[in-house]
Amino acid sequence: MSEQAEQAVETPELDRYECRSCGYVYEPEKGDDKQDIVSGTLFAELPANWRCPVCNAKKVAFANIGPAGTASGFKENLGFGLGVNTLTPTQKNILIFGALALGFLFFISLYGLQ
Ligand SMILES: [Zn+2]
Repeated sequence: MSEQAEQAVETPELDRYECRSCGYVYEPEKGDDKQDIVSGTLFAELPANWRCPVCNAKKVAFANIGPAGTASGFKENLGFGLGVNTLTPTQKNILIFGALALGFLFFISLYGLQ
């Protein structure tokens, strides 16, 4: 498990939920003024008949996108993708240019055989 994932688990009360129909994001820190949801209300504590204030979608249409200020993307996607997301920009550049250099050498070697 990465550090980011562990931190996300430690602060579930700050999880935001995004409406998959229209992109509206429910933020527990803000609540929902239009439907008398006070700030600090967890998504899980919203009434069962709560609907998306923008497109009227039901709660089941929402996906957990994690607390504010963390890595972008859906929580369940964290940890996928060969761990590239945990690399620093410098490490990514080394990987990219290393791959380019290898590809170039491979091309040159093929060219030399002809
Ligand atoms: Zn919506």
